[in-house]
Amino acid sequence: MSHFDLQVPPRREDRHPKTCLAYGGAVCGSKGGGRRCALAADADRGFTQGSICPLLPALGMMASLPETVVLMHGAVGCGSCTHGTNANVRSGHAARRGKPADALWLSTALDEVDVISGGDDKLERAIREVDTIHSPRAIFVVAGCLPAVIGDDIDGVASRVQPEVNATILPVHCEGFKSRFMATAYDAVYHAVGRNLLPESGTSSEHDERTINIMNVGSMGRVDELELERLANELGLSANFYPVFSRPESFRKATRAALSISTCPTHDDYFLTHLQEKYGVPYIIRHMPIGIANTSRWLRDVGSALDLAEEANVLAEAEERELRNALEEFLPLFRGKRVFLSAGEYRSLATASLLREFGFEIAGIRSFHYDEFADVELEKLREDGVDFTWNVANVQPFEEANLLRRIKPDLFLGHWHGNNTAARMGIPTQVIYNTAYGYIGYRGAYDLARRLHRKLRNTAFTDRIGRYARLPYRESWYAAEPFSFIRSKTGEET
Ligand code: SF4
Repeated sequence: MSHFDLQVPPRREDRHPKTCLAYGGAVCGSKGGGRRCALAADADRGFTQGSICPLLPALGMMASLPETVVLMHGAVGCGSCTHGTNANVRSGHAARRGKPADALWLSTALDEVDVISGGDDKLERAIREVDTIHSPRAIFVVAGCLPAVIGDDIDGVASRVQPEVNATILPVHCEGFKSRFMATAYDAVYHAVGRNLLPESGTSSEHDERTINIMNVGSMGRVDELELERLANELGLSANFYPVFSRPESFRKATRAALSISTCPTHDDYFLTHLQEKYGVPYIIRHMPIGIANTSRWLRDVGSALDLAEEANVLAEAEERELRNALEEFLPLFRGKRVFLSAGEYRSLATASLLREFGFEIAGIRSFHYDEFADVELEKLREDGVDFTWNVANVQPFEEANLLRRIKPDLFLGHWHGNNTAARMGIPTQVIYNTAYGYIGYRGAYDLARRLHRKLRNTAFTDRIGRYARLPYRESWYAAEPFSFIRSKTGEET
């Protein structure tokens, strides 16, 4: 039986038992580190400074989809992060379709009375109103914690109302308390799409042999899509980008592609397995096209899968030659500089490989979580002889501050909302993904090198911030071991 036959998708940690949220120390097999290295799935912290509700990444996907409405079913605060991500939605639409468009999201705003009497009726009325007023093609009905606690049946409401509304209703089970692994959010959205937006079945004879599905992610800008499309076109292939910013027909088109290729394994494995099992679309989920060698690996994988191995090889060699020449002017400034990275597991590790290609030393990496997908990237760093401190943490800035004080890197790369700790310590920072700039593929590598060069040539901005800004931690915390709150419930030190 497929997971997609179930009404509610499994949690990421149940599908991938090695998934881990708390680790600090050396990386298994690396030469340094006095601590024993064992990632324990049950490891946790005695003190947690923050967490990420899975609604955040789930809304990042859903809010980007044109002609759809996101209907939050929960307390009024659930989903309010969309206020912050709307700028990204607007610019994403402008880059792809020539004009900005806001994310359209509403809330049933459950209150104390609903907690007692149930929220099903309120949800039913809200779905009808959304359908009448906004006429979307699809409505995501997203359950927060509250309806799950009081026992609201969003699937029951959806099937009761569906015959009377024009929009396709997609129930999404993304309750924040269900999982602390935000990757569960991707599965929850894909689950709703797979059950409600895709055709009933497909046969391989219907496949378009020249089209490949390229899975995008919310933090990937159009400029990165264009780079991957350019490479696909060079091989005579056309690219179908989804899920982010794609219309419902892109999902249907995905069921007829010759191949699906992931740009982030953490993001995609649930849906790609489904596309293969139900529609016979094979997939590759191995390398992220970040960095010179990784982009070439990604490209050669596409070539090998579609009988274009020679063409992919020639293209990769030509692109690498051109890029390496173009990078020459930047590398002397990078050589030997020490970097700390912070991002999702796969992106942080793949970017570390890219920075090694630029000549940086990797001093530390903070990955939001760990699962077995990371092993491929960890192995590349091990083969490269990289020895770094690794922190697996779903945003724990107190650990990061302690680490940064010890490591004193020359540069910090993190998400736009996660650079402030480093900046307040006077460390030059660079946004690890910025949808306005290139990051992926050969062009992305060049673009990043250019930005890093500019950043390191003049560090006056963060020098001044470091001189005047303060972090809230006491000296006693900086003196303590950075991972002293990490425990394994089985008693095993991690
Ligand atoms: S944790 Fe629960 S209540 Fe909080 S924002 Fe997420 S879904 Fe809503």
